[in-house]
Amino acid sequence: MIKTSSNWYTDSRRVIEELYGEDADMFCDLFIRKACSKCSIEKPLGKFHSHSSTTDRKRPDCRIYRNTWIRKYHRTIKGKRLRKGYDKKYESTVIGCAKKRYRSIVRRCNNPKDKDYANWGGRGIKCEFASADDFIECVKEMGVDLYGKEVHRIDNNGNYCRGNIEFLSKEEHTKIHNRMYSSR
Ligand SMILES: [Zn+2]
Ligand SMILES: [Zn+2]
Repeated sequence: MIKTSSNWYTDSRRVIEELYGEDADMFCDLFIRKACSKCSIEKPLGKFHSHSSTTDRKRPDCRIYRNTWIRKYHRTIKGKRLRKGYDKKYESTVIGCAKKRYRSIVRRCNNPKDKDYANWGGRGIKCEFASADDFIECVKEMGVDLYGKEVHRIDNNGNYCRGNIEFLSKEEHTKIHNRMYSSR
């Protein structure tokens, strides 16, 4: 069966369901064909990865193309981060990462039950960002990739606000704080 009408998939599937009932899925994968959006070769649906939001429940690009793409992608820095697991995956997105940082800032400053509260909220340090979105805006303005970075306040007695924060790696951050303590 090939693509003939706009409802080509639903039409073809209906015919197959009538013929094969419960086994329709398997036969759809075998008999319904479509052209790959990337390599243009026409292949049976079984040669495409599943996808939840398309009419035919399959990706537009074929398995071979997609697998090659994934293999290449995994070699990139972002891909390597993604493979470390869901948490890392979430963290590696600019927004996910910023939200996570924002939540811990709010916790340190506003929640007396937090283990770090004494050194932040307890010392009068406030979070001046109105919301997570406001913080995300600021991160974007600063053009920083927060992945693997910590939020540092330039003036240690100042609040979390525009102009008083910068993003440092754990290493850089520890170094700065060690210097601050030793110069006291
Ligand atoms: Zn293809
Ligand atoms: Zn700091």
